[in-house]
Amino acid sequence: MSTVRVDALLRPHLAVGVVLSLVCVLLPVGLGRDTLYTAVTFGCIAMMVVGVRRHRPPSPAGWWLVTAGVVVWATADLMWAVFTWILHISPFPSPADALYLASYVLIAAGFWCFVRARRGERDREGFIDSAIFTVGSVLISWVLLMRPGLEAAGEAVEAKVLAAAYPLSDVLLLALLVRLLTTKGARSPAFRWLVAGNSLLLLADCAYQYTSMTETYTGGAITLPWLLSYVCFAAAALHPSMRHLTDGNTGDVGTRFTRGRLIALTLASLVAPGTLLLQLALGVPLAAWAVALSSVVLFLLVVWRMSGLLRRLDAQATRLADLARTDALTGLPNRRTSDAELERMQTRARTEGLPLCVAILDLDHFKSFNDTYGHQAGDSLLVAAGAAWRQCMKDAHAGVGVGRSAMLGRWGGEEFVLLLLGHDVPSAVALADAMRAVTPAGQSFSAGVACWDGLESASAVFARADEALYAAKAGGRDQVRTAAPAGETLPAPGDRPGTVLSAEDVVR
Ligand code: GH3
Ligand code: MG
Ligand code: MG
Repeated sequence: MSTVRVDALLRPHLAVGVVLSLVCVLLPVGLGRDTLYTAVTFGCIAMMVVGVRRHRPPSPAGWWLVTAGVVVWATADLMWAVFTWILHISPFPSPADALYLASYVLIAAGFWCFVRARRGERDREGFIDSAIFTVGSVLISWVLLMRPGLEAAGEAVEAKVLAAAYPLSDVLLLALLVRLLTTKGARSPAFRWLVAGNSLLLLADCAYQYTSMTETYTGGAITLPWLLSYVCFAAAALHPSMRHLTDGNTGDVGTRFTRGRLIALTLASLVAPGTLLLQLALGVPLAAWAVALSSVVLFLLVVWRMSGLLRRLDAQATRLADLARTDALTGLPNRRTSDAELERMQTRARTEGLPLCVAILDLDHFKSFNDTYGHQAGDSLLVAAGAAWRQCMKDAHAGVGVGRSAMLGRWGGEEFVLLLLGHDVPSAVALADAMRAVTPAGQSFSAGVACWDGLESASAVFARADEALYAAKAGGRDQVRTAAPAGETLPAPGDRPGTVLSAEDVVR
C-alpha cells in the first residue's frame, strides 16, 4: 500500500537537508556559504515537486502555491546574494523585496487552500479563534517590530512601507497557520511538517526583522530556521499522508472546545492588558492606542465566540429535553411526559370544572405477534399503531373544542396511555373504540377507561383504568371497559381514596 508506506525519499531528504543546513550555518559568511544555501533551498524545492507529483493529492493547488512561494523566496535570496557578493551593491528598495513580499502571499494562499478544503462547511468558531490569536499577534508585532521599524525607517516612504509590509506579511502567515491549526481534520505527519515549516519560517523572519533594526544582516544563525523551514515543507510534500491533508472532517459538527484551546484563547486575549502592564512596569512609552483598539476588537471577538457557544448550548439543551420527553421508538410522549401531562390536566380539570378521563391501551397477544413475525415487525407495529391512533384522534377532533385536550403516550412495552381532558366517559369510550378499529396489521387492543373523580391521585386513577383493562382482557380482549366511579369501592385498610374496582364489578 503506497499510501501508508513512508516515502523512500523522506528519510534521506531529512538527513541530507538537516546536515547541509547545519554545515551552512557553520561556514563563514560569504559567497561559498550562500551558494550552499541556495543549493539546499533549490534541493528542497525539487523534493517538493517530486512529492506532489508522486503522491498526486486530490487538490494540489495548495501544494503548488506553497512550492511557488518557496521558489520565489529562493529567487529573492539568490538575487540578494548576487547583489551582495558579486555586484557589491545593496539597492534600496531592492527588487528582491518585491519577490519576498510576493512569496508571502503565495505561501499564505497555499495555506488558505488547505484551510478551505479541510474546513468544509462554514466554521465560524475556528474563524473567531484564529481572529483572536491574530489580533493578539498584530499587537505584539506592532509593539516589537512595526512601530520601532517605522521609527527607524525615517522619512523615506519606501522604507516606511517595507518596515510595515514585512511584519504584516508575517502576521498573515501566522493567521493562516493558526487557522490551519483550528481546522478539524487529522493531524497527520504531513500536517505537522507543514505546521513546523511555517513556524520555523515565522521564527526566522521575526528574528531577522528584530535584529536587522539594530545591525546589518549578513546571514547569521537565523539562516538555520529558514533552511529548516524549506526542509520541513519538502518533508510535508514527500510524506504519503499529504494526499489526505485536504480531507474535510465532515462528521462532528462544531469545533471541540478543548482545555488547550481555552488556555490559548485566554492568553491571546490577555495580550492587550499584558502589553500595557509590561510597558508600565518597564517604564517604556505606552502603546496606548494600539492596546485600546486591540482590546476593543478582542473583547468583541470573545463575546461573539461566547454567544456562539451559548447558542450551541441552548440548541443542545432543547434537543436533550426533546429526547427526554419522547419515546425513542414511536416518537410519542413517554411515560414521564404522560405523568406530567396528567398532573397539568388535573389542575385544569379542577380549576375549569372539566371532566377528565384516562385510558390504558394494551395490544392483544402482542407476544404471539412478536413470536410469529419477529421482534422487528413488532417494533414496526408499535410505530404504525402509534401513528394510526394519533391520526384517528386528530380525525375525531379529540383535542379540539372548549377546554378539550387529548394526548396519546407510550407507557412502556405495548401499553399506551390516553389522556382526555374535557371528555366524559362515553366520549372517551367512543374515541378508544374508534382507535381500536384502526389498529394496523389486523391487530387489536384492550383498554380500560377511568374518569378522574377530582380528588384521587394520579396513580389511583391509573390503577382504576388498569383494573378496567384487566377486565377487558378477561372479557375476551378487543374491547374497551369502563372503571366504576372511584367512590364505589370499599376502601381496604391502608388504601388511599380511589382504590380500583374489582374486575367482576366493572361494567362495560
Ligand atoms: P395480552 O393480550 O394479554 O396483552 O398478551 P400480550 O402478549 O400482548 O402480553 P404480554 O405482556 O404477555 O407480552 C407483551 C409483549 O410485548 C412481550 C414483549 O416481548 C413485547 N414487547 C414489549 N416491548 C416491546 C417492544 O418495544 N418491541 C417489541 N417488538 N416487543 C415488545
Ligand atoms: Mg402488556
Ligand atoms: Mg398485550
